[in-house]
Amino acid sequence: IITLGIESSCDETSAAIILNGREILSNIISSQIDIHKKFGGVVPEVASRKHVEVISNVINEAVKEANIKLNDVNLVASTYGPGLVGALLVGLSAAKGIAMSLNKPFIGVNHIEGHICANYIAHKELEPPFTCLVVSGGHTHLIYVKDYGEYEILGRTRDDAAGEAYDKIARAIGLGYPGGPLIDKLAKEGNKFAIEFPKVYLEDDSFDFSFSGLKSAVLNYLNKMNMQGQEINKADVAASFQQAVIEVLVNKAVKAAKFNKTDKLCLAGGVASNSALREELVKQCRKEGISLFYPPAVLCTDNAAMIACCGYYEYIKGRTSAFSLNAVPSLKIGERD
Ligand code: ATP
Ligand code: MG
Ligand code: FE
Repeated sequence: IITLGIESSCDETSAAIILNGREILSNIISSQIDIHKKFGGVVPEVASRKHVEVISNVINEAVKEANIKLNDVNLVASTYGPGLVGALLVGLSAAKGIAMSLNKPFIGVNHIEGHICANYIAHKELEPPFTCLVVSGGHTHLIYVKDYGEYEILGRTRDDAAGEAYDKIARAIGLGYPGGPLIDKLAKEGNKFAIEFPKVYLEDDSFDFSFSGLKSAVLNYLNKMNMQGQEINKADVAASFQQAVIEVLVNKAVKAAKFNKTDKLCLAGGVASNSALREELVKQCRKEGISLFYPPAVLCTDNAAMIACCGYYEYIKGRTSAFSLNAVPSLKIGERD
C-alpha cells in the first residue's frame, strides 16, 4: 500500500509517500521557521497563508521524489488535529481533494498519534505494546500504546508543555526561536549543577507533569540577577533549567514503563531530539533493562511521514474518514470522529 501523508498543523508544510506503513519513499518538509522567527513564535494567520502558498508544490515534490505517479497512491492521510485551525484546514482540504479526485480512501490522523508512529518508521522491528513519552511543543504525555491505534493516557502536563518551557526560557535569555535546539546546544557549555531549580514531581503516584513553576523560578532568577546587577551565565542557566526538566521526564518515563510492565520505552515529539534527554534515558534504561527507542531528529519534529504511517495503521484496522471530516484544534489522543 502506498500512502500519501499530509501535515500542516503548525508551521511545517509537509507531504510524504510511504510504502506499507514503514518505508519512506519521500518526506518533504517546508518549514516556516524563518518567517515566524522575527515574531518570536508562530503567527497563526501568517502560517495558514504560507501553507496555502506552498502545499501544492510540497505534494508534487513528494510524488516526484518517490518516483511514483499520483495515481499510484492507494490511501491519503492528513492531520486533522490538534493544531491551529487555519493551518490544519489547508492540509486537510488538499488531502480530501486528492482522495476525492483519485477515488481513493481518506483517513484523518491525530498529530500526536503521528508523533508516536514516527518510531515505527525508525525501528522496523518495533511493535506495541510499549510505553511512550510524548514531548512536543504543545504536549507532554505519558502514554501506554496497547496496540496499533490504541492509546491509554497515564499522565499529562497540567500547565506548560516541555517544548513550550524550552521556548519560553530561550526567549527569556535572548536565544531566539525555536528555543529547544538552541538551549540544547548552549547547555553543553554550562554546568547543570550551577543553579538549583525546582523539580516538580506532584503526587507520589502521579504520572502528570508541571513545568510552569520551573519557568517562574528561572524568570525570577533572571530578574533577581538583573536587579542586583550581576552577570548572568546563560550557559549555566540553560544547563540547570534543562537538568530540572530532564530529571523529571526521565524518572517518570522509566517509572511508567515499569508500571506498565513493558520493557520498551519510546520517545516522540520535537523535544525527543534533545541530546541530554536521550543520553540520560539511555543510561537509566540500560540500568533498568528497558529497550529505548527514539526517531532521528527529522522524524521527531513535524513531518508527514509519521502522519502517513499513522494513517496506514488506522486503515489496516478498518478505519477511514468521511469527506465531511472537519479540523479539530483540540483533538484528544484516542478520540475518533
Ligand atoms: P505539537 O506536536 O504538540 O502540536 P509542535 O508540533 O509545535 O507541537 P513539535 O514539532 O513536535 O511541536 O516540536 C517542536 C518543539 O520541540 C519546540 O518547542 C522546540 O523547541 C522543541 N525542540 C526541538 N528540538 C529540540 C531539542 N534539541 N531540545 C529541546 N527541545 C527541542
Ligand atoms: Mg514546528
Ligand atoms: Fe508536532
